[in-house]
Amino acid sequence: MSRRREEEQLTDSGYREVILQVGADKMRKSNDPEILLCDLDAFYASVEQRDRPEYRKKPVVVGGSSGRGVVSTCSYEAREFGVRSAMPVERARQLCPEAIFLPCDRARYRRVSEQVFSIYGRFTPEIEIVSIDEAYLALPAGEGLSTAAEIHRAVREELELSVTIGVSVNKLLSKIASELAKPDRIGSLWPAEVEELLWPLSLKYLPGLGPASVQKLNRVGITTIGQLAAAPFDLLQKYFGKSALALHRHARGVDDRPLEPAREAKSLSEEKTFAADLADEEVIRAVLISQAENLGYRLRAGGLRARTVGLKVRYADFSTITRDQTLPAPTDSDLKIYRTAAALFAAHKGSPPWRLIGLRVSGLQSEEQLSILNSAYGDKREEELQRVRDRLHHRYGGAVVYRARRLIKPPEKD
Ligand SMILES: [Mg+2]
Repeated sequence: MSRRREEEQLTDSGYREVILQVGADKMRKSNDPEILLCDLDAFYASVEQRDRPEYRKKPVVVGGSSGRGVVSTCSYEAREFGVRSAMPVERARQLCPEAIFLPCDRARYRRVSEQVFSIYGRFTPEIEIVSIDEAYLALPAGEGLSTAAEIHRAVREELELSVTIGVSVNKLLSKIASELAKPDRIGSLWPAEVEELLWPLSLKYLPGLGPASVQKLNRVGITTIGQLAAAPFDLLQKYFGKSALALHRHARGVDDRPLEPAREAKSLSEEKTFAADLADEEVIRAVLISQAENLGYRLRAGGLRARTVGLKVRYADFSTITRDQTLPAPTDSDLKIYRTAAALFAAHKGSPPWRLIGLRVSGLQSEEQLSILNSAYGDKREEELQRVRDRLHHRYGGAVVYRARRLIKPPEKD
């Protein structure tokens, strides 16, 4: 099916869905769970400042060690000079020559991250890990704010780190609540407050809406989230195609994406939005390798194998496709996942640049369900390599051994 045709089909039924969703949200029962988004503040820089007291209260920039890297994270002191994540390190040096520039010690940050996540785990088993410094937690109705306060205190007292926590009833609103509360605070944003608090905000507060989209909307006079919520759907469809539906819903504070705790997930996914549109296929393949390795690790950690590998590509014009490939046998092999993804990418890459690349494995089966005894790996050596890597990953709390190509990386976002 052509991309155009797919968009038409989706949005045709999509508009009705928007209306229904808004209605459904109004009828939301008060016993729905509450969602926390816990986001560590300036995480890499904070770990460095915690472990090296001489760096405290000083501008710290963590990023590529060579002159050509980009800023991964910078301390709030560095932000005062205009330094931002995803900015070239060279530019950061011009803005703030006195800053302390440090290489990115991801293995160490990952170990700290796992300590933080294990604190979260004391409060709820319902955790979806978004990234090294971000996780969604689900809590029973009415417990969101008090639990947020306890988590905030525990992370401060036990790990000397600050975390910002957004509290609401869905992922979108808790994410926005955390953006508004940053740093080191707890914020809430409830559906009843959408009109008063969300709608006056500028578009940049809507997660997933990049600067290019904001510009597009500004050009037609849409500058606030409220104006976006009131915009004719046809207009959004014209500009954003398939993404228009989600955008329209989000502008109304509606979001029914479920939490995906790994243990009961029907699928696992990894997604990367690039800080700038990316045109280099080598880098895309490096991202796919890294995503395949993360998914493989998560599958093996959960005793699962996947039947289907799916690729998601967002092109420069915001159109997005997803393509699935079903495998001859369920797998948890990094290499099989990567090869399938790479073949899907080769077939559907369209023309560069790309804005987002995502990988998903679905059709998950637990190992007990697999009555077939033949190994999912054709390659014993690969299996052994993987086992060694998992042991290291487990022991050091992070991927320590990478395939070399994974070391080519796009700019990291904060
Ligand atoms: Mg953060």
